[in-house]
Amino acid sequence: MTAQELRRMYAEFFKERGHKEIASASLLPDNDPTVLFTTAGMHPLVPYLLGEKHPLGSKLVNIQKCVRTCDIDEVGDDTHLTFFEMLGNWSLGDYFKEEAISFSFEFLTSKLQIPASKIAVTVFAGDEELPADEEAASIWIKKGLGKNQIFYYGKEENWWGPAGQTGPCGPDTEIFYDMGKEPCSSDCGPACSCGKYVEIWNNVFMQYNKERDGSYHPLPRKNIDTGMGLERILTILDGKDNVYETELFIPVMDRLKFLSQIPYSKDTKGIFRIICEHTRAMTFILGDSKKITPSNTEQGYILRRLIRRTIRLLQKLGIKENILCELSQVILVQYRESYPELKENSRFILEQLNKEYELFQKTLDSGLKKAEQYLSGLKKEETLNGRLAFKLYDTFGFPIEFTMELAKEKGIQIDIQGFYEKLKEHQDKSRKGAEGKFKGGLADSSRQTARLHTATHLLNGALRRILGDSVYQRGSNITSERLRFDFSFERKMTPEELQKVAELVNHAIASNLDVLCEETTPEKARKEGAIGIFDSKYGEKVKVYTIPGYSKEICGGPHAAATGELGHFTIIKEEASSSGVRRIKAILD
Ligand code: ATP
Ligand code: MG
Repeated sequence: MTAQELRRMYAEFFKERGHKEIASASLLPDNDPTVLFTTAGMHPLVPYLLGEKHPLGSKLVNIQKCVRTCDIDEVGDDTHLTFFEMLGNWSLGDYFKEEAISFSFEFLTSKLQIPASKIAVTVFAGDEELPADEEAASIWIKKGLGKNQIFYYGKEENWWGPAGQTGPCGPDTEIFYDMGKEPCSSDCGPACSCGKYVEIWNNVFMQYNKERDGSYHPLPRKNIDTGMGLERILTILDGKDNVYETELFIPVMDRLKFLSQIPYSKDTKGIFRIICEHTRAMTFILGDSKKITPSNTEQGYILRRLIRRTIRLLQKLGIKENILCELSQVILVQYRESYPELKENSRFILEQLNKEYELFQKTLDSGLKKAEQYLSGLKKEETLNGRLAFKLYDTFGFPIEFTMELAKEKGIQIDIQGFYEKLKEHQDKSRKGAEGKFKGGLADSSRQTARLHTATHLLNGALRRILGDSVYQRGSNITSERLRFDFSFERKMTPEELQKVAELVNHAIASNLDVLCEETTPEKARKEGAIGIFDSKYGEKVKVYTIPGYSKEICGGPHAAATGELGHFTIIKEEASSSGVRRIKAILD
């Protein structure tokens, strides 16, 4: 089965069972301060899992491109990727465990013809707070699984959420494929990482709300959230034991083997795999409609890390020429049908890869020499101080993780804390937030976020009014403290323009206008002058938020109910973001 057949078969299976297909959302989440990238299919659906009505109804299916930076150190093993595609189905207060498990089982065993005997599942074992999920276990038994195929684990393995202190959460049941290896020990099971069991699909049952006092109450409206890894399923269907031997990686791997003229051996395998994987990830990140570029902060920093790590590994293989673009082109050709944004942005992708290559090439050799000098002065298990690590970062553009990798190869540690202290000293505008933000979860949908979100619409409207209709949104990011808005505009704004924009927004706030929401089709929304992204990702129906006289935008929400809730709007910064793109940061107080 090809990847495309698998994608279609999955979507069709659920569509036949009443689900509506939603297209993959951007890899870069809108208005979500908790993560840098979309890490799962549930991510763009957060407002709906929290209770908002989805325009397409209560049963959804999609194929979502995901990036998980937290798995970067696993890359090179058989099953972990930084970029992967997740196949997911959802019930928003509709069906629950019985149907969800039945769908999964039927899809795997009937559609994909995976023998039930090769499947193992895990369920929540219960603890002092909550009972075991016997309901899920008994459904699996009904499907024909033996008791020896069902494993019970506690919250550390079989529990999801809440994202913060409180909120929706619940047990899950994870589906594994038994790779057929001998058990590594007497208590080898799905939770073991020896490679006998590979997780293929997760079914999350959002059935409780965790309260402030730590207690759990059943949710009146329960949700199903599932996610299955495309690459892993394809591996199994192909009868392979690692994702690199599927059609998804064979072309780029072949090209790399050809260009490097180096044998793929036990020693080089890891490097080959990482280069191929990272090339695919950087191609998708650069190819996203949000058009981010390598930088020293947030998503741009992750992109830079992926590219620079790859450049160094290519050099380690002895490849002197810049073959990044050639490798990326293999990915572009392979995915352009399924992900048209790659085709649209192919020039941008290749330009950026070349630019970053040139930039890093200038300092890589001298930086590696300097690093070698620092590290050779140390013995195994000694620590490189933070000042020197910072020097490699600041002078030679070595991301700290990059230096850590160099050091690790020699068994040397790095004083990370010392590095960050130095970094902080040198730049307060640092890569704030790039740490610890990778775990997915329900976004902070607090009132403050909703207010800032509404303020973003007002700002967008005001900018277009003052600067003209050529202004359009290029990015948006909201934390609980501030909003950040990127928009197309060629020059620095004058103080008068900034003042006018802020006045206009504050005028809208003072008028305490209702924020109206309407569901409609993209065509109708466009006709009525709504702005926003008119691509298929929204499906046949979209939500249009209107602030009469100020703004009309297609958007998923959530928003304040009226502008009066916003308080006072202040622009704290206007700066260049990238060429032709300006960035405004603003607060509400
Ligand atoms: P694992 O324990 O193997 O890292 P996970 O518990 O992180 O998996 P989930 O968060 O439940 O996985 O994600 C749902 C599905 O997405 C998994 O069952 C798997 O098929 C796929 N998946 C998760 N992480 C990755 C990854 N890094 N690379 C490829 N596929 C992945
Ligand atoms: Mg994981």
